[in-house]
Amino acid sequence: MEGTEGRGARLARLLGVLRCPLCQAALAPGERSVCCPSGHSFDVARQGYLSLTTGAAPGANADSAPMVAARAAFLEAGHYAPLSSALARLAGELAPPGATLLDAGGGTGHHLARSLDALPDALGITLDLSKHALRRAARAHPRMGAATGDIWRGLPVRDGAVDLLLNVFAPRNGPEFRRVLAPGGALLVVTPGPRHLAELRAAQGLLSIDQDKDERLRRTLAEHFEQRHVASLEFPLRLTTEEASALVAMGPNAHHTTTAPPAAGTVTASFQLSVHRPR
Ligand SMILES: [Zn+2]
Repeated sequence: MEGTEGRGARLARLLGVLRCPLCQAALAPGERSVCCPSGHSFDVARQGYLSLTTGAAPGANADSAPMVAARAAFLEAGHYAPLSSALARLAGELAPPGATLLDAGGGTGHHLARSLDALPDALGITLDLSKHALRRAARAHPRMGAATGDIWRGLPVRDGAVDLLLNVFAPRNGPEFRRVLAPGGALLVVTPGPRHLAELRAAQGLLSIDQDKDERLRRTLAEHFEQRHVASLEFPLRLTTEEASALVAMGPNAHHTTTAPPAAGTVTASFQLSVHRPR
């Protein structure tokens, strides 16, 4: 069990990476909150995550409780374990000792936790818009912290504070990713491969994978990053009807109405993993 001292030490280490989203100053711990010298104050939720978004509450773009619960159950069942392992292996190669890892749009912290397992002294931070996801991320690993953050509006993270930035099926902000990465840092991006969930898509009439997405990703990041390495990862998923339904409910297809629940069967998981270095 992690004691109060452990939590305090973790918060202090986290605050060495994060910054005030309003004035960019350093943050110091307070009573159930953190604050900057200008008096901007941000809550530490009872569930352990920091609320560092400002202005209107993030609602429309944040994953709902049912979407997060579906994703958590699916990931905990181990279906994407080969992806987590591939990420952890790359993290082990890319991150220096004592590294700081940031998962931008990291959801429940599932993949980041596996990477932290592979890096004994590393600190991990999950940023996401969904408080439902962050409640889980805050307890996903003893060396992981969690904070609300809007990838589009700018990351509440200090310049050059991150050694390895993970971005798994999440929005990308090239200039911000470049700003928060240390000079020798790396960006590790996962996007769906062309055959991802092909069988499920065909049967359910789901949104198809954008074939131009890989090219678009390269263009989006090319101004700020140089792509160094690309790998494909494909493996079969053996799914029950419930799991297939959960998979449909996990992603952007959650908003896409289907007529009947998907059938049990084998479905292809297909990913592109790419490593980018700051220019
Ligand atoms: Zn401030």
